[in-house]
Amino acid sequence: MINFQYARANNIAEAVRLIGRNPNAKFIAGGTNLIDLMKMDVEQPTAVVDITRLPLTEVDATPGGGLRIGALVRNTDLAYHPLIEQRYPVLSSAIMAGASQQLRNMASTGGNLLQRTRCHYFYDTATACNKREPGNGCSAIEGHNRMHAILGASDFCIAVHPSDMCVALAILEAKVHATSASGDRVIAFADLHRLPGDTPQRDTSLDGGEIITAVELPARGFATNYTYLKIRDRLSYAFALVSIAVGLELDGDIIKEGRFALGGVAHKPWRDPRAEAELRGQPAIAATFARAADALLRDAKGYGGNTFKIELARRGVARALTQAARGAPQSQSSKRII
Ligand SMILES: Cc1cc2nc3c(=O)[nH]c(=O)nc-3n(C[C@H](O)[C@H](O)[C@H](O)COP(=O)(O)OP(=O)(O)OC[C@H]3O[C@@H](n4cnc5c(N)ncnc54)[C@H](O)[C@@H]3O)c2cc1C
Ligand code: SF4
Repeated sequence: MINFQYARANNIAEAVRLIGRNPNAKFIAGGTNLIDLMKMDVEQPTAVVDITRLPLTEVDATPGGGLRIGALVRNTDLAYHPLIEQRYPVLSSAIMAGASQQLRNMASTGGNLLQRTRCHYFYDTATACNKREPGNGCSAIEGHNRMHAILGASDFCIAVHPSDMCVALAILEAKVHATSASGDRVIAFADLHRLPGDTPQRDTSLDGGEIITAVELPARGFATNYTYLKIRDRLSYAFALVSIAVGLELDGDIIKEGRFALGGVAHKPWRDPRAEAELRGQPAIAATFARAADALLRDAKGYGGNTFKIELARRGVARALTQAARGAPQSQSSKRII
């Protein structure tokens, strides 16, 4: 076990001050990812700043008709929140498709956004990994890469972002509120996670000293025609091979607005405006959905073990769009488990 200092922040200003003191410090929220990484020697912070007592546990209405979700709202509380279930059911479904009940009870909204990849080489310090040790090489490109990226990867890293929640937040066009010693800023969700390029050690556009304080949802929630479809090796407690979040607005059989994003296929939730343009103004029929899926996967590339994911994603997109258009999401139940 590595030695590290522990400090608890009582307010946001103190959290920012404590993290700013030490470039090797990390915030800890639910701890469900960070502690695992510390136990495996992948993350070696010399200090952890406990933010669990900060007043960021509420879901509040915004003047624009949306919601502001505090960064410390637990995944379970968010999935079961009445306003999320009613107005943003795709978000409830995505959260409920992730991890296990116990993990969702601990995991926070901010921590879910910033969880690290599940690439097994990243967790195995005996192997080469550019994300863990820049310049060291990538074991996955020629190794076991069944779970890895088919879109947006680089010669340095082909890892994927593992979150389910983030795929739904991508189509909802959420905004991320962050605070640091330099002040507050708001980041469009599409700009939070990065592609690996030649700096795969950086997952996001956040600076080390920034704390996520909230995630803001715009008013539009796609509550009628939506789905979150997660395709994985087991029905529960498994990360996505491919997942698809869809939100449609229909005028009769015509698609007025269509958004869809893929999880499990890239270093960030994957949306493509060219693919969504294939939906706009078109009839909600199989041919339209197939064109949109083709457009999304036009630049997909497999690495041997994961090449099957290209066709899996193509079929998954068509199925998810069909389910959403029919108003039959068939997604994970978000009913409370007692
Ligand atoms: C066995 C297992 C199965 C899982 N399956 C799934 C799954 O199927 N789908 C899925 O989506 N997830 C899955 N997860 C991941 C789980 O959702 C994450 O571990 C969890 O969401 C992380 O939240 P946390 O609050 O525990 O984060 P922590 O572990 O506390 O923190 C994670 C990272 O975020 C940083 N951080 C946390 N909060 C903030 C903040 N407010 N501001 C700035 N930095 C912050 C920390 O410094 C750390 O780097 C699984 C996890 C496990 C262990
Ligand atoms: S895919 Fe990325 S995380 Fe996995 S071994 Fe390669 S560099 Fe490391």
